[in-house]
Amino acid sequence: MDCGHVFALDRRLEKEIDGGLSGSSSLDAFTGIVGLKACVDIGGTKVAVSVADAQGIRGRVVEPTAKEGANDALGQQIVRLIGESCASVGLSAADVTAVGVSSCGPFVIRNRCIELTAPNICGGMAGKARGLPNDWASAVLEAPLRARFRQVRVANDGIGALEAERRWGALQVNGKAMDNCAYVTWSTGIGMGLCVDGHVLHGKNGNAGHAGHMFVSDNNDALCGCGNIGDVEGLIAGNAIPRRFASSGYADAAALFVATYAGDAKANAIVDDLCRVMGRTLYNLVVTLDLQRISMGGSVFWHHREFLLPKLRSHISGKLGSLTDSFELVPAGLGDTVGDYAALALVLS
Ligand SMILES: [Zn+2]
Repeated sequence: MDCGHVFALDRRLEKEIDGGLSGSSSLDAFTGIVGLKACVDIGGTKVAVSVADAQGIRGRVVEPTAKEGANDALGQQIVRLIGESCASVGLSAADVTAVGVSSCGPFVIRNRCIELTAPNICGGMAGKARGLPNDWASAVLEAPLRARFRQVRVANDGIGALEAERRWGALQVNGKAMDNCAYVTWSTGIGMGLCVDGHVLHGKNGNAGHAGHMFVSDNNDALCGCGNIGDVEGLIAGNAIPRRFASSGYADAAALFVATYAGDAKANAIVDDLCRVMGRTLYNLVVTLDLQRISMGGSVFWHHREFLLPKLRSHISGKLGSLTDSFELVPAGLGDTVGDYAALALVLS
């Protein structure tokens, strides 16, 4: 199996949409779609597959992410779901001309095909203590798709979202994709897509943008799913909040913010601390890459964006003005549908 070229990827579907992307008509998302495309969104919890053509995106099918059986179960699940998505709208998988896959990462490349080494899917990474029902060191993804479909593009979901935001969302200037920008998701995990000088960064294995795994603390209660202790994701991701703060009475992110809004000083201090870590992470990206704009999404950010934006901006503005004065931190233009557009952006670009 030769998978040919490799593209990068990352994503997330937080909004259940059946029968079409809501609000898509104003985005003109489907202009220029030639042929039938399959759009695949892979997360640690669920996978979603739709098909898109000039008539729009439809036939959405969703299942829990395959985590049992042989380690190509996920790839085989995606092949099957593409067939089911097509069949649900009276089309044939044989007519699919391209498959875009926006997936959680990281990736490894084997035989020139992408496999996932995602901590929330592959039980062989952290061992039995992690509680996953498999011992996979990696999940085969691209090879089964290559065996069935002519054109396949797999990319990290952060990169998929970045491309969607540059094509339809907040990372545009006068209708043209911005050259120096990033998309950052603050969700169950922390993910990013990076673009410098007009080039979307992919890296040697398509993993550019995994800046959520930068070490930023010696805090020993911040165990990330990747095995690091004290990285950004381990400290502030949605799934870090119950791990770190359930013993303080905050069972999850929602409970933490409810308490904060109710005037709970301890909860407010925790949120301030989370924002300090995220704000500094964003600042570090800006000064490292000389970015013009970052758009943010993800469930933790999106549900509390009006509260969080000023706090995050305060960690960037006023610091090293030559790099930050003209920088903007904005909410994702595609809102909580950015994940839906990520896979579509991958097959159109
Ligand atoms: Zn990590």
